[in-house]
Amino acid sequence: MAKIALKSVTLQGKNAEIRQKDILIEGNRFVRICESLAPQDLDGAEVVDCSRFAVLPAFYNGHTHAAMTLLRGYADDMPLQKWLQEYIWPFEAKLCGDDIEIACRLAVLEMIKSGTVFFADMYWHRERTIKVVEEMGIRASVGVTFAESLMSPEAIEKNFEFLAAHTGESERVRLAVAPHSVYTVGENMLKRCAEFARAEGYGVHIHLSETLQELKDCEKQYGCSPVRLLDRAGMLDENLAAAHCVHLSDSDLKALVDSGTTAVLNPCSNLKLASGIPPIDRLLNAGAKVAMGTDGASSNNNLDMHEEMKLAALLAKVQGGAETLPAREVLDMATVNTARAYGIADAGEIREGALADCLLVRLDDERMTPCHDLVSNWVYAADSNCIDSVICNGKFVMRGRHVDGEEEIKEAARACAKRLANS
Ligand SMILES: [Zn+2]
Repeated sequence: MAKIALKSVTLQGKNAEIRQKDILIEGNRFVRICESLAPQDLDGAEVVDCSRFAVLPAFYNGHTHAAMTLLRGYADDMPLQKWLQEYIWPFEAKLCGDDIEIACRLAVLEMIKSGTVFFADMYWHRERTIKVVEEMGIRASVGVTFAESLMSPEAIEKNFEFLAAHTGESERVRLAVAPHSVYTVGENMLKRCAEFARAEGYGVHIHLSETLQELKDCEKQYGCSPVRLLDRAGMLDENLAAAHCVHLSDSDLKALVDSGTTAVLNPCSNLKLASGIPPIDRLLNAGAKVAMGTDGASSNNNLDMHEEMKLAALLAKVQGGAETLPAREVLDMATVNTARAYGIADAGEIREGALADCLLVRLDDERMTPCHDLVSNWVYAADSNCIDSVICNGKFVMRGRHVDGEEEIKEAARACAKRLANS
């Protein structure tokens, strides 16, 4: 089994104490974290001098559309419905499987470079997304997308068949049932998706209560809020990851908390599309499970979880006061909470026995200097350029800021985007 020994890393404990430790990774797990590894631990291990680095948990991105990186900057500065109907959906209609693969590679490259080792995706051509994730060494929950208003009935049935035929998960890739939203999937299909997911043991990933328009239309069509509609359809439970949750009544909030649903915040996208500000303080005060994602690069316009994390912390403070959402808690949202929302129970933390996913962050960067509090520096002062290396599942996926094949990936994406924009 492959072994990596990270020597003399800087870590911060739960009580904010900063210490130097050694970490042994064996296979895909952290197996030992101690003052000094014994000679037999180092036997056969690749020994990495980490005296310049802090080890921090890697990011888990709880909501994105990876292939939409190809639409980065294609249409900006307009509200969600106009943006979707007049620009995004027509451009997306031109995308084929090869384009999706090229776009996904660019997305995964960007994620790795900004410290993300997992993403929950919702898009088309899932086989291509799965292929890229397997090749590039990170993790994903690949949503099999249901959107009745954009798909034929045959394509919907094929989705169920694909999910039913899929036996087991690979080590790093799992599938999810992903009904797009209450405005693209009707009540009966929501019910069917919920029942199917429960019977087959899949998690569910959906857009929920993103805009006031969504609320208004749902109220008109169904006589209730989008959260209540999902409740009626039997979809609210601990296996549901609901992206956005911007517009919630107190009764919606209670339904999310009582059911154990995770709200996945995407504040950058919500602000840019002027959808609103997610009620972070109300979610926290109510005891809701809260995770975090970036949404697609067409509405964010990047996939940088660090930016998302800092913005969430700042918004929460404006809503609830300066003590709301301290650095350590917002870091948990972007790491361990998001991993748990997608059923990865033993990841997102630096502890013995957990999956070996982590970042080596440069302590000699100006933004990490001085270091009174490592987590404070990381959340409030640093940015993702302070990351030197990224480990996922016990293997380096970025080292010294280099990712294998990165120039080719960017060149292919540039050529593909140009061709599509002109076609
Ligand atoms: Zn989205």
